[in-house]
Amino acid sequence: MTQHTSTEATAVADAEKKAQLNVNKLTKWLRHAVGDAINDFNMIEPGDKIMVCLSGGKDSYTMLDILLGLQKSAPIDFSIVAVNLDQKQPGFPEHVLPDYLKSAGVDYRIIEEDTYSIVKKLVPEGKTTCSLCSRLRRGILYRVADELGATKIALGHHREDILETLFLNMFYGGKLKAMPPKLVSDDGKHVVIRPLAYCREKDIVRYSEAKGFPIIPCNLCGSQPNLQRAVVGEMIEDWDKRFPGRIESMFRALQNVVPSHLADPKLYNFVGAKADGVARADGDKAFDRETFSEPNTINILASKPADAGGCGDH
Ligand code: SF4
Repeated sequence: MTQHTSTEATAVADAEKKAQLNVNKLTKWLRHAVGDAINDFNMIEPGDKIMVCLSGGKDSYTMLDILLGLQKSAPIDFSIVAVNLDQKQPGFPEHVLPDYLKSAGVDYRIIEEDTYSIVKKLVPEGKTTCSLCSRLRRGILYRVADELGATKIALGHHREDILETLFLNMFYGGKLKAMPPKLVSDDGKHVVIRPLAYCREKDIVRYSEAKGFPIIPCNLCGSQPNLQRAVVGEMIEDWDKRFPGRIESMFRALQNVVPSHLADPKLYNFVGAKADGVARADGDKAFDRETFSEPNTINILASKPADAGGCGDH
């Protein structure tokens, strides 16, 4: 009996050790991916004050946690302030984020603005509320960034969010447009960054579970989930399972755009194209069909993690 108990205890200890090793590996991977995105896009500069938008979803918790970890080892000084906008949705657990942030020793602000009532009042029953809701939220966050003297606004969108946006724009918007890792805000006054741009959603899910973040449900507003986004999300997830490497390849495509092989005369001077006798590798190959090898998943995963934020992290 004693022998049996001690064998079980050893098995449990081994399993815990293995789990811890996996979390360490995942942490390293995510930090690496975030570090690469920060470097590639010059997201954080010395003296920056980063306003990390925290919704209480897995993505924003992960972003905050990874940024706090990087802050300790970064060769430059920057500060972080976590901001949550309490939109007064029914059942919003007000204590969860302050408790978590206090225990993590993070500088934070909770902003209370009853946008929920405004949206309910202005949007007719049955119509989608997200567009007004997110417009109001954006305005408030810009104002708060000004008040806090934040130089960057960090959002928790990840690789799949970016690809979803790309497909949504193609399917429904007639635009080749995704979600940039860094861009000046529409009012021209802020710089918005997405440090999780290279992170895979499935890694964020695993990290969030391993860390036990106190997740706040994202359906408190009662709005219907965005069906178009959900369908595109499922399509990407399905591809990821059936065709390993495809998602990585698609994301790399966003970083490897060839305007001369698209069809936008605003991006490339097709109108003025003239034969000048100079051979060019990227010229038109007329009748040649392009051939493609299957993505080499192993190489892709081992290389720079170009593969390495729904409502929750809007
Ligand atoms: S789902 Fe998000 S964006 Fe849409 S109404 Fe609810 S809180 Fe607002």
